[in-house]
Amino acid sequence: MTTPDTQSCTACQDLERGREQAAAVRDRSKVTDFHVLIARHRARHPAADEAVNVMREQGPRT
Ligand SMILES: [Zn+2]
Repeated sequence: MTTPDTQSCTACQDLERGREQAAAVRDRSKVTDFHVLIARHRARHPAADEAVNVMREQGPRT
C-alpha cells in the first residue's frame, strides 16, 4: 500500500469507486471530474491523523 491513509477515508473510497465506475462506462468527462475531486479532497488531508491532531492542538485559539 502506497497510500494507507486513503484506506481509512470513506470520502476517498467513495471518490475512487465513482471514478472506477465512470471509467468502466468510458465516461471520460466524469473520470476527469472525479480526478479533480479526488485531488482537491486529498489536498485537505495529506495525513489524516496529523490533520486531526493539528486541529485539536489549535483548538479555539484565534
Ligand atoms: Zn479522503
